[in-house]
Amino acid sequence: MKTSDIQKLYEAYILPTYTTVPLCLVKGKGVKVWDIEGKEYLDFFPGWAVSGLGHCHPKVVTAIKEQSQKILHISNNFLNVTQARLAERIIKESFPGKVFFCNSGAEAVEGAIKFARKFGHESGRYEIVTMKNAFHGRTLAAITATGQKKYLEGFEPLPEGFKQAEMNDLESVTKLIGPKTIAIMLEPIQGEGGINVASGDFVKELRKICDQKNMLLIFDEVQSGMGRTGKMFAFQHYGIQPDLMTLAKSLGSGVPIGALVVSNKVKNVLTPGTHASTFGGNPLVTRAALAVFDAIKNEKLLKNTQDMGDYLSRHLERLRHKFSFIKEVRGWGLMKGVELAIPGKPIVDECRASGLLINCTQDRVLRIMPPMTVKKKQIDHAMGILEHAMEKIANTI
Ligand SMILES: *Cc1c(COP(=O)(O)O)cnc(C)c1O
Repeated sequence: MKTSDIQKLYEAYILPTYTTVPLCLVKGKGVKVWDIEGKEYLDFFPGWAVSGLGHCHPKVVTAIKEQSQKILHISNNFLNVTQARLAERIIKESFPGKVFFCNSGAEAVEGAIKFARKFGHESGRYEIVTMKNAFHGRTLAAITATGQKKYLEGFEPLPEGFKQAEMNDLESVTKLIGPKTIAIMLEPIQGEGGINVASGDFVKELRKICDQKNMLLIFDEVQSGMGRTGKMFAFQHYGIQPDLMTLAKSLGSGVPIGALVVSNKVKNVLTPGTHASTFGGNPLVTRAALAVFDAIKNEKLLKNTQDMGDYLSRHLERLRHKFSFIKEVRGWGLMKGVELAIPGKPIVDECRASGLLINCTQDRVLRIMPPMTVKKKQIDHAMGILEHAMEKIANTI
């Protein structure tokens, strides 16, 4: 089979909800992936931020192999060893509380929204303030929380009760808070929105407001969590704790798993029967996620993420000085954005043709998120390809 054969199957049988490029990946190892024709690529956006430890991390692969020989799935009405151990692990690494497991980021967000509504039910509060340029997933409630027009159009009527403020603009938040407001939800670093970092002052003020008004502060860490920013969770950069936190993407470094983490302050809101997921937290995926936590610890990957993040920043700053179309380099750890004054797609395409996979979001922000296992020489190699691609583009403008 060739790429063109697979493309034909797509045309015949896959609903065209994604803009695909003609690249069929069949194998991955660490920072590298190979296409069906055997061409090698450096993957600096592995699995849309899912493969945080790189592709097929040996610890994750072993965990999946071992667990698949014991039991793959059990009902959530029975006790599950790996789910219990993973929940303990998440709580020990984050804040005192409890965990609900699901299968994706949108489901974790949906769980947070349902939780907030239940929390506010008695006092008649249900409104949630989110930020412009947010991304919270594709269920009906999550697209409404996301608020970006391109994700909403044609799907109306949308669920009620969402309002949008400007990130890092406290007044725009306080203006939207009324007697019906129950929660504020944000990504500490907006991923899809263009690697926009919530400032420390802003987040601390949001925490104060939520405390004063008995509202919930919800951090969507689906993309920023699991070590991506150099700390296990991005909230740990701020010296505050959210009441709710959503996780997914790299929690399982390749297996579909999501989680809603709820602090002890509010944990007894959902009672048996009020929320559920058939697959949520099954033995296979929770065993894989335990291996992810082990690998981050044993291989000192938080330290590597900080060091390689700094190293990557230096490279990107060098490029910013060289190319006038680069406006800004931002982000934490290995979650980097490069804002351009020109569309980013031609650069992404050029990089791919030369064996480097990166992403462009919001039309003009290159998103660069190599796995936490990345090494200096791989960054050097990737930045060489990026520089070359930018040179080519610079010659055409
Ligand atoms: C990707 C993402 C989601 C949605 O996750 P899915 O697994 O695609 O449902 C939600 N929130 C954030 C911050 C994300 O980056």
